[in-house]
This record gives sequence, C-alpha cells and structure tokens, in this order.
Amino acid sequence: MPPVQDPHRAPESHADNWLETVVRNAENARWCTRPFCTTCGCQEFRRAYWSGAATRAGLPVRFQAPQHPRRVFEDCSANDQRLLVQALIQGLRRVSAEWSSSDAIRTVLVDLQSCGLDHAHAAELLQQLRGTPAGVGMMLMREHAERRLERRLRHEQFNSAPAIEERERLRREQAAQRHATRQTHARQRGQERLQLLASLAKLPMPDRLACLARDESIRLDMVMDAVLAVQQADLAGLGHAEAAALVERIGERGGGWARLRRLLEQRLATEW
Ligand SMILES: [Zn+2]
Repeated sequence: MPPVQDPHRAPESHADNWLETVVRNAENARWCTRPFCTTCGCQEFRRAYWSGAATRAGLPVRFQAPQHPRRVFEDCSANDQRLLVQALIQGLRRVSAEWSSSDAIRTVLVDLQSCGLDHAHAAELLQQLRGTPAGVGMMLMREHAERRLERRLRHEQFNSAPAIEERERLRREQAAQRHATRQTHARQRGQERLQLLASLAKLPMPDRLACLARDESIRLDMVMDAVLAVQQADLAGLGHAEAAALVERIGERGGGWARLRRLLEQRLATEW
C-alpha cells in the first residue's frame, strides 16, 4: 500500500512538478505523446517519465525501451512496482490544469491504467488523483471509455443474430398485417360494388344514366357493367345537361365507356 498522505503537510507546490517538466521537454523536443500510438508507442516520452519516476522512487533507471506498459514492470519486484506507480502518481498530482488534458498526460494515465495494476489498485489510483487536474482528466477518460464500451455493446446487441431475427420477424408480421388489411379493403370494395350495381340495375336505363351523371360519389370504374347494354334509344329521355355532364365524367375512359360517350356525343349533336 502507498504511504498515507499526512493531512497536516503543506499543499504540494508546483516547484517540483517533474512530470510537467518531462511533458514540456517532450513538447519542445517534438516527441510523440499520442495515446495508443501504434507507430512509435511514444517510446521516448515513456522512457523519460518512467525513468523520472524511478529516480524519484530511488530505483535504478533501467527503462531502455518500454514497448508495452507491462514491460516496464519486468524484473521489478512487487514493492518496486508500487514505488514506481506511487512516484508517477505524485508527479501527476502536481500537474497543472494547463496540461491535465493534454495528449501527454493522457498517455501517462493510459500507461498507468494498463501497466498491470489490479482493479483495487486502479481504483486507489483514481482516489489519489481526486481533486487534482490530472484526476479530472482521468475521470473524463474513464467516462469516455465507458461510453465507448456502451456504444460498442449497443452496436453488438443491435447486430446480434437474435436482434436481427426479431427485426425480420417484426417486418414479416407487419407485411402480413398490411396484406390482410389490403385484402379486407378489397373485399369491402367488392361488396360495395355489388350493392351499387344491384341498386343501379333496379333503375330503368335513362334514370341509371342520369344517376351516374349527377352522383359524383359513384366511381364510374366500379359500375361499367351497369351501362354495357345501353342503346341509343335509352338516351332519348336524358336531359341535355345530364348528357353533357356524363360525357365530362367519362372523359378519356376507353372500352364500353368510350362507346357510351360516342352515343352521348351523337345525341348532343342532334337537335334537342
Ligand atoms: Zn507515435
């Protein structure tokens, strides 16, 4: 366990913020400090701050090229590991807000969190950084990581076989429902058409034609059968206005309707 902080000790000054000095030097030397850099692994920078931590912990500096955080702890006793981490945390505690969310400090925090600390130790790390700019930076990183994990889980869930199957089942169900509704409507329209034809059939042909001319609620396309048998003689009793209205309603319809329109036009052309 790291030594307990003495609450009576004066607040930590920024005089010995060695880690910030390492960060500034890295910046000046243009070392790569990009978190998770897969090109160089931030080797220069990481060697510098782990060496700084070793110096502060009174340990021999032996980090030539730490390629992976775990390598840093190779050949290190458990006690030395704790001393190293503790020294790095002390450095982090003194980092000012100016640098706390920089790439460099994020790289240090990622390194600390992935260098093989167990869960309890990692939580303790966060505890020790609480209230410092670096602690805020770490909290933000953790939240970001959690959100990313959450998004990934949601994405995986959305694309999982059962979810895809369920969406497909719903789609089929809705399509079947729409089909059934269409069929019901078609049946209803069929019945209405039969009723309409039956009531038109009861009317003598001239009245039937007058009805079709006047009643715009009757869809002509549904009642073709009602006018198939119409003869020129049937038009004798039809008024001029009604004949004209019916021609208007028939419009450009073909077949039996075109035949009726011609009869009506002939009738309209004669003396009324
Ligand atoms: Zn790099």
